[in-house]
Amino acid sequence: MDSVASRIVKARQYAQERDRRVRVHKFEVEIDGEHAKHTITYNNGSWTCDCEESQLRGVCPHIMAMEEILGESVEPAVTAQGV
Ligand SMILES: [Zn+2]
Repeated sequence: MDSVASRIVKARQYAQERDRRVRVHKFEVEIDGEHAKHTITYNNGSWTCDCEESQLRGVCPHIMAMEEILGESVEPAVTAQGV
C-alpha cells in the first residue's frame, strides 16, 4: 500500500472510531435558531451560548444540538452543571 492510500485508510479508521479517539478542547460555532443566530462556545468542558435559556439553566437546545453532533468527543453540558 502506498503512503497516500495508507493515510486515507488511517484517516477513515480514526473518523469511524471518533468516540474513543477524538477529544474536543475548544470551539466556537454558530447555530441558526428559530428566531435568531446563536453563538455557542466550548472550552475544556465548559459550554456557553448567547441565548436567554442557557443563561437561566446552563443548557439550551443549541448546546444540546452540538452535544448530539459531537457525541463522546465533548463533555456533556448537563452533567457539567450537576443537574
Ligand atoms: Zn442557546
